[in-house]
Amino acid sequence: MIRYTLILFFIAFVGCQTNAQQANVNKESLLNDLKILAADAMEGRKVGTPGSEKAQAYLKKRFRQIGLKSYYKDFEQSFIVRGKGVEATNLVAFIAGKSNKVIVICAHYDHLGKRNGKIYNGADDNASGTAALLQFATYFSKHPPQHTIIFAALDAEESGLKGAKHFVKNLPVPVERIILNVNMDMISRNEQKELYACGTYHYPFLKPYIKKIAQQSSINLLMGHDQPSLGYSNWTNSSDHSAFHAKGIPFIYFGVEDHEAYHTAEDEFEGIMPTFYVQATRTILDFIILADKQLDAIAAQKQKASKK
Ligand SMILES: [Zn+2]
Repeated sequence: MIRYTLILFFIAFVGCQTNAQQANVNKESLLNDLKILAADAMEGRKVGTPGSEKAQAYLKKRFRQIGLKSYYKDFEQSFIVRGKGVEATNLVAFIAGKSNKVIVICAHYDHLGKRNGKIYNGADDNASGTAALLQFATYFSKHPPQHTIIFAALDAEESGLKGAKHFVKNLPVPVERIILNVNMDMISRNEQKELYACGTYHYPFLKPYIKKIAQQSSINLLMGHDQPSLGYSNWTNSSDHSAFHAKGIPFIYFGVEDHEAYHTAEDEFEGIMPTFYVQATRTILDFIILADKQLDAIAAQKQKASKK
């Protein structure tokens, strides 16, 4: 009996230690979601295709399982992609917070579909970000957030950020209430264990948060790819966060450098790096938890300072 209690105590102690460093992500469920989204059965998740519908059905099932709320019927914010004439569908869910301010977490679930008889499964681009989004929704369903958090699985990114553009034009809440956008696009593979947090050049008040998270992260969390003058590629408009930025909504985009499988049929589940991916997901979750806890305090301090 004593031994049993001691073991329990030990487990609880170790559990707390880990939690203090990095928030918990369920590795098995994270990888399972990615694997399912990046399977041949989803046919590359191209906007307006039966493969996309399968991906949507899966995501809606997961949203319901997690117990998320919806602004729309069955989470669907649908629209016609101009020029293509196909229907695209953003899947939008939320968890209500104590404050009426809102954080929007997004990831595009669409990819390139089939080309020359090959299926482009887009495991890293962007089943990885979409599966991470499901983990964050699960976390906040168990740990109620301060802010309302919207979880948006966006469509038609590969057709010119169309899903994100439609979403910001048709926001389910007033734009003034949105204090932050966190976008994830390609977060599951990098040989150097490097993940970029892009956006602090435009929104320097977010820098201390990223710095703090970088210190406790087990991967290399770097800032950059957002300054036009630095000579290497500027990712400010490279993915869905661009539409939020255009509306003046502060953003952080998490992503890795392009790799050899980028936009090829080789971007498969087998190519992702599970350890790095889990660590990247934990790191991003830590950032969201920190921002959820502290952003209002920072905003209040700033307001106070400007009144002096
Ligand atoms: Zn992408």
